[in-house]
Amino acid sequence: MTPISTNKARTAVFPGSFNPFTIGHKDIVLRGLKIFDRVIIAVGVNRDKAEADVAEILKPIRACFKDNPDVIVDSYSTLTVDYAKSVGAEAILRGVRSVKDFEYERDMADINRQLSGIETVILFSSPEYAAVSSSLVRELKSYGKDVSRFLP
Ligand code: ADP
Repeated sequence: MTPISTNKARTAVFPGSFNPFTIGHKDIVLRGLKIFDRVIIAVGVNRDKAEADVAEILKPIRACFKDNPDVIVDSYSTLTVDYAKSVGAEAILRGVRSVKDFEYERDMADINRQLSGIETVILFSSPEYAAVSSSLVRELKSYGKDVSRFLP
């Protein structure tokens, strides 16, 4: 885990698998920065995941925000709310594309608030990105298709 100072800036943690990080995710980060001073993109990894695989996910995200000091890219393998507290985050940031996402995000937000008091801020996806998902990108890639239009 990258050591991160906990100062007074308003921080949101944007947790996810980001496998891979898409233009839809980037849009949520940039819009989140209108509300928060900084956004920590936190790649959730389970303990069995190989370090090389995690590095593969982190690398393009770091490249995407290399010129933006308000965006920090990190990975974590604890409960999201425990990670969010450890970096002094005010909120968890998430995105919703559809009714399908909504139910899941509402349940997660509710549980996370019960566990920690941390609120979740949900942004609706921009319409042009509503159909973009990491799973779609992975599937197209597995058939050898060019997925660059979905990646930042
Ligand atoms: P998870 O496995 O935790 O759902 P994802 O990497 O799939 O992680 O997504 C992280 C967050 O980004 C989720 O809140 C998800 O709803 C949101 N998200 C994913 N794709 C988009 C998109 N195209 N537009 C807006 N939000 C999105």
